[in-house]
Amino acid sequence: MRFSRLFCYTLKEAPKDAVTPSHIYLIRGGYIKQVAAGIYDFAPLGKIVLDNIRDIIKKEMDNSGAQEVMLSFITPYELWEETGRAKKYGDELLRIEDRKGNKFVLSPTNEESVVDLVRSYVKSYKQLPINLYQINLKFRDEARPRFGLLRGREFIMKDAYSFHKDEEDLDREFNLMEETYKKIFSKMGLDFRVVEADSGAIGGSGSKEFMVLANTGEDDIVVCSKCDYAANIEVAKRKTIKKENPIKTETIEEVYTPNKKTIEEVCEFLGIDPFFSIKAVVKKAIFDDKEEIVVFFVRGTDTLEETKAKNAIGAIDLADASEEEIKKAGLVPGFIGPFGIPSNIKYVIDDDLRMAEELVCGANKKDYHIKGAGLLDANLLGNLTIYRDIAAVKEGDLCPKCGKPLKITKGIEVGHIFKLGDVYSKPMNATFLDENGKAKPFIMGCYGIGVSRLIAAAIEQNHDDKGIIWPKEIAPFVVDIIIGDVKKENQVKFAENLYEKLKNENIKVLLDDRKERFGVKINDFELLGFPYAVIVGKKLKDGIVEIRDRRSDEKIEVKSNEVFDFLKE
Ligand code: ATP
Ligand code: MG
Ligand code: MG
Ligand code: MG
Repeated sequence: MRFSRLFCYTLKEAPKDAVTPSHIYLIRGGYIKQVAAGIYDFAPLGKIVLDNIRDIIKKEMDNSGAQEVMLSFITPYELWEETGRAKKYGDELLRIEDRKGNKFVLSPTNEESVVDLVRSYVKSYKQLPINLYQINLKFRDEARPRFGLLRGREFIMKDAYSFHKDEEDLDREFNLMEETYKKIFSKMGLDFRVVEADSGAIGGSGSKEFMVLANTGEDDIVVCSKCDYAANIEVAKRKTIKKENPIKTETIEEVYTPNKKTIEEVCEFLGIDPFFSIKAVVKKAIFDDKEEIVVFFVRGTDTLEETKAKNAIGAIDLADASEEEIKKAGLVPGFIGPFGIPSNIKYVIDDDLRMAEELVCGANKKDYHIKGAGLLDANLLGNLTIYRDIAAVKEGDLCPKCGKPLKITKGIEVGHIFKLGDVYSKPMNATFLDENGKAKPFIMGCYGIGVSRLIAAAIEQNHDDKGIIWPKEIAPFVVDIIIGDVKKENQVKFAENLYEKLKNENIKVLLDDRKERFGVKINDFELLGFPYAVIVGKKLKDGIVEIRDRRSDEKIEVKSNEVFDFLKE
């Protein structure tokens, strides 16, 4: 592809609501364009990355023996009534009506549709097992679509559904899918963990999530320091605190609020908007009969309120502060976050354990004293618990498998696999005849991957302050040949020739032949995140071109007659 013909227009600024690196760079790089809240157009570069991810997924799914189908995006409401999810699914389900008054939904997931498809053909155990998958649009009317492709309303999912004669065969397929997913995410060059998870609105017995590790992830996950145990914090808490160790964690909720308050009620008490309006608020509270200053943190975007809160505690903004300023404020340098906490503030309450820890102890954890920090467990749907003391929470989080301490980290859910059993087949009366001629409901599994979310997750894990750094496997182009000066005939000729040769080798190559300044081309190369640039510039007359490695920022001078072989490797 020639950049001069490419439908790609990079921007200097990102919109104000873009706060995560992936959202900022996808918009600035002209990969996607917002159409409405949580709904995006994909420009050519975005579509290429999407297709690269699709290809990796398709290849591994086909290898596992699953078969690709395409289920209708719009499904009859009656199917959802059969399982009872028409009511249960809640407001994320977008219900629509046609001109005749027939009701439909925009598919947020497709268990009902696939059961309907399979029950109409499969009658005998001899036809099992089956695993059908699709890579298709989904619509969920998310209450707070945000972070670009990370939480859209319209998004692309790979969803697979398997049908078995018994639980044993489901277990086999579930393990096969776990292995298949591991191959898929490894191929994409992602650092991920498989964690024990809740089954959520999909239902069923066991489930595992695939989490891409990234600071901006919305999920808290616990990872054992010794064994392979990893779990979503929701599951870990239930297992380790609520069930096995309920008294160990001293809560301080009575200090400011009566028991069992919801996050909304507490936010009202604090006088703050529960969702995305403010990051911190300072209040006085009583601890151990003493009045202390408490800082409450709530996730949010920058607002005037935030500045006010910051001024109230005399905090400096660490995003802008120099190391000197940080030290002067009595803080530990190294903390990367929006707030500095002066040392006279004893209590930090946060919705994020790790963040609270870093605020109190500093990122290097040298002075590991977290007694005074609290964890505001602000589950948006559930009740609120405020833990007195992170140390106690940590003790209560001990690994349920081996008893060693657990570490807490952030993840982006990119995949989720479920053992459904007969949760859908039974109410939908989807049965087959077993070996003894007895009718039995299908035993099912289902397996999702957030295909469009993966684009953003890959960026959250692979970027710097200049832009994206694509893993090679999913990069829209692997090599960007930059012509330093398009008025120089020798540069154009050399670059064109190299471009043709690389194309013939099936290397994904872009030729930046635009009449732009060199600086513009390099900035675009860095923003757009191609793994390599070949700079065909002034040194060409001495037989030299430069290769830039986007990830390491290494600049290698290569003889112009050797550059083709160099890149081929
Ligand atoms: P989340 O917890 O992030 O809301 P979920 O648990 O509701 O996700 P699943 O029902 O497990 O999602 O769907 C399978 C996969 O689809 C998820 O693992 C995720 O990668 C992707 N996904 C879910 N919701 C969205 C969304 N709003 N935007 C983009 N991808 C999504
Ligand atoms: Mg969800
Ligand atoms: Mg989830
Ligand atoms: Mg899920």
